[in-house]
Amino acid sequence: MTTTPLPTSVAARPTASLFAEDRAVWSLIQRDRRRHNETLNLIASENYASEAVLEALASHLNVKYAEGYPRSRYYQGVGIVDDIEQLAIDRAKELFGAEHANVQPYSGSPANMAAYYALGCQPGDTVMGMELSHGGHLTHGSPVNFSGQQFKIVSYHVSPDTETIDFDEVARLAREHRPKVIVAGYSAYPRIIDWAAFRRVCDEVGAALLADIAHIAGLVAGGVHPSPVPYADVITTTTHKTLRGPRGALILCKSQYAKAVDRAVFPGIQGGPHLSAIAAKAVCFREALQPEFKQYAAQIVANARALAERLLEHGFRLWSGGTDNHLLVIELRDQPFTGAAFAKALERAGIIVSKSTIPGETRSPWQTSGVRLGTPALTSRGAVERDMRQIGDWIAQVRDNLSEEAALERIRLEVRALASGLAPI
Ligand SMILES: *Cc1c(COP(=O)(O)O)cnc(C)c1O
Repeated sequence: MTTTPLPTSVAARPTASLFAEDRAVWSLIQRDRRRHNETLNLIASENYASEAVLEALASHLNVKYAEGYPRSRYYQGVGIVDDIEQLAIDRAKELFGAEHANVQPYSGSPANMAAYYALGCQPGDTVMGMELSHGGHLTHGSPVNFSGQQFKIVSYHVSPDTETIDFDEVARLAREHRPKVIVAGYSAYPRIIDWAAFRRVCDEVGAALLADIAHIAGLVAGGVHPSPVPYADVITTTTHKTLRGPRGALILCKSQYAKAVDRAVFPGIQGGPHLSAIAAKAVCFREALQPEFKQYAAQIVANARALAERLLEHGFRLWSGGTDNHLLVIELRDQPFTGAAFAKALERAGIIVSKSTIPGETRSPWQTSGVRLGTPALTSRGAVERDMRQIGDWIAQVRDNLSEEAALERIRLEVRALASGLAPI
């Protein structure tokens, strides 16, 4: 199967005025763009937004203050930006089939903070989320994050046997601790999330279900991962990961939480909305409503599966044995080298990944025993299964030549040849 690459960020190329005014920043941007075009970006949380998205993001809308919501603002001159925000809201609701949407959150982390407050969480209340090292996010209760500092956190885990969510433990902990909120949705979980199972636990103990689909929103929108909309009370997502939009976030909820969500975002934790980002979100939601986006989402998953299969053939251990979504985690528990060392060697060969902790991690978060790989960014550049199998071969070659500079350099040249043949950003 081949796909036409989706449009990337040609218009975002540094303009003549940046070149004239600030050569230092212009040239750093140029160098970083070249880095992207000459390497293979397998960072699971990154993606290339379209030219149209970046054009909206770079527009004059950057100027506007419009605290409040459409038709109820604290500023004048807002009639047109009201229409922009309303368009973004309407498209978000259509895309996900949600009753209410708030498109103002600056990013995924503040969206989660607003969601906890909207669900009535007070300091000291109990929140349940996945342990960070098992794939959860900082905002799901890490002690170094506001979530872990303000709330009493009960963490659940993946089962050591199945390496998937341990629902027996989730139910047991929920009965014992009666959390106000249970968070489902992760940063490094390669399997499908069973929203109905979480709903059953929440109903049994009277908890609210917060679905954080930051990583998988594009897969949900594209119909290749089940939607949490029928099950979750509140849903948060970033717009810049699989959804291919601007950096930012979105909160969806049932009508009964609409007021609480809106108040929690503004004036609860944010000031003026970023209208340029909101316009870019509107463009992104429209793109995700097109039939091609379904094909894109399916290709992301097909690519991840092809990469996983080839890595398994090369003897790698993958967390949970493979993937159902856009990402996979290579486990290096029994390897003499760390995730950090492997990620650095891969970078020398032009393959860009992120190190990742694994369930039962014994190394520090700086060293780690895993690397996380994702296919959304390369799929945006038009990569298909054949490319993924080739990349799997190179990843194995890097493992087998970890400190052989000459071998890494040879791989880097081959990587650059493949990367240069993909759609440029
Ligand atoms: C990326 C991510 C976030 C936070 O997004 P930022 O925009 O980086 O703040 C929240 N939750 C999950 C599960 C994520 O993966």
